[in-house]
Amino acid sequence: MPASSPASGAGRYAPSPSGDLHLGNLRTAILAWVLARRSDRRFLMRVEDLDRVREGAEQRQLEDLAALGIDWDGEVIRQSERTAAYTAAIDQLQERGMVFECYCTRREILEAPSAPHAPPGSYPGTCRDLTPAQREQGRARMRELRREPAVRLRAEVTEWTVQDLWAGEVTAAVDDLVLRRGDGVPAYNLAVVVDDAASGVDQVTRADDLLSSAPRQAHLAHLLGQEQPTYAHVPLAVNGDGARLAKRDGAVTLRDRLERGETVAEVVERIGASLGLTGCCSAADVLERWDPATLPDQPWVVQLPR
Ligand code: GLU
Repeated sequence: MPASSPASGAGRYAPSPSGDLHLGNLRTAILAWVLARRSDRRFLMRVEDLDRVREGAEQRQLEDLAALGIDWDGEVIRQSERTAAYTAAIDQLQERGMVFECYCTRREILEAPSAPHAPPGSYPGTCRDLTPAQREQGRARMRELRREPAVRLRAEVTEWTVQDLWAGEVTAAVDDLVLRRGDGVPAYNLAVVVDDAASGVDQVTRADDLLSSAPRQAHLAHLLGQEQPTYAHVPLAVNGDGARLAKRDGAVTLRDRLERGETVAEVVERIGASLGLTGCCSAADVLERWDPATLPDQPWVVQLPR
């Protein structure tokens, strides 16, 4: 699918089906839909179900999004059905000598001295340049631990820069990121990049907890010969204490609000109010009236009546 001009490109919403979407997720979904529709892009729905899947959550999430007035083009994409595409991307990098096996445990990575100037938590390069004999030892150790070696990217840069609609130019570290985890599951960063390119996504709208991952994903897209998408990271929703909104904060999902006697229109109105709009009843109202230049750059503090 061509992705070169906005008219032929696509935006997307990519929920993880680990439970019901809360108001912050719903707000991000509306904004992703609005930004795509505003720019005549297609809008795709992608279920990120490689991890943390809760029975029935996908169906409930899709119903909730549709109830807000969000529609999407084509079939829902499921990452669990796309393993062959992820494997092909890893194979492509492997053929170019751009991956290596990693035998480290999480703890070893955390405890290893990091390279000078590397941000905390970044991969210290332990398995990057091992001898064949050292690799054999590593594999034997993995067999004992009943794990596969992880597969990592042999990164050639230490940082990369992307453009974000609101944050502007964002530069962040790129390390030897995991492409396939030790349990054999494709890593999130790889899956996102492969899926966005395969489906013609050229506009990535999501919550800004992923802003610092955008440069490494864009770098991976570059190495795979793909166009870099434009990014639009939306501030997170938080509770009254400033912590990321979560289920334990009470009645924070659409269904919770409906159970408390609110209507869908009232829930959308609340989301609209967080964007400085009054009287929005559906996603279509936000599409018609919201000006992206007015997005607050602070988190949305969600205060709800019990
Ligand atoms: N699945 C991720 C989430 O629910 C979003 C990933 C993305 O949009 O790239 O936070």
